[in-house]
Amino acid sequence: MQPGKVLIDLVYPRRCPICREIVLPKGTYICEGCTQKVTLVKQPSCMKCGKPLAIMEQEYCYDCVRHSHHYKRGFAVYVYDDVMRQSLGDFKFRGKREYADFFAKEIVTRYGEEILAIKPDYLVPVPLHPAKLMARGYNQAEILARKIGEALKIPVIPNLLKRNRNTAPQKTLDDKERLKNLSRAFSFGGSDTFQKGNRKNIKIMLVDDIYTTGSTIEACTNVLNRQGITDVYFVTVSIGRGY
Ligand SMILES: [Zn+2]
Ligand SMILES: [Zn+2]
Repeated sequence: MQPGKVLIDLVYPRRCPICREIVLPKGTYICEGCTQKVTLVKQPSCMKCGKPLAIMEQEYCYDCVRHSHHYKRGFAVYVYDDVMRQSLGDFKFRGKREYADFFAKEIVTRYGEEILAIKPDYLVPVPLHPAKLMARGYNQAEILARKIGEALKIPVIPNLLKRNRNTAPQKTLDDKERLKNLSRAFSFGGSDTFQKGNRKNIKIMLVDDIYTTGSTIEACTNVLNRQGITDVYFVTVSIGRGY
């Protein structure tokens, strides 16, 4: 961190990731009123992707019933609604990288034990395309991964996956095209880190800010699977509903 940045942090108090006002008392991350505005993912939730479900009798969400996902399991803290859309938008596109403190703390509080029980060897952020990284100045998923890793003492490998090119706008594509489009967008960047024969017992937990259709996480998982890394999990701040 640059010395100037430290000073700025001291002079400018922390802002609430939801209402953008100054958070009081000092040392807290979100103002009390705003804890009511966010929607936590609760039980019942999908046993595969973690999306909240409408009824207890269901084991898997509509999406996980229809498509096979190659990751083992996923965790997410908040339901992706308008409140989260704005907050994650600030975090990603409007320079509010400090929100990572709040989001990482929430992930660790909710799922720290479960993550530690899985014993991932490494946390791996979903990468940004270098041009986007340059424009934005940071990869929000990497900041999250580093903070979670610090708290849970799990090493982070930021470059295990690489993003190759800017993909066509995903919104205009159907599920199949989306995955095809994305599968070309990621590649393995860990050939130097891991010898080929050594990859079988490695457990990876992917980290991202949001899981919606799951196609990004699936594409990353497929890249790792092809490299012989078969134990892939994910954790995200936010997730769509499973119904
Ligand atoms: Zn607030
Ligand atoms: Zn699911």
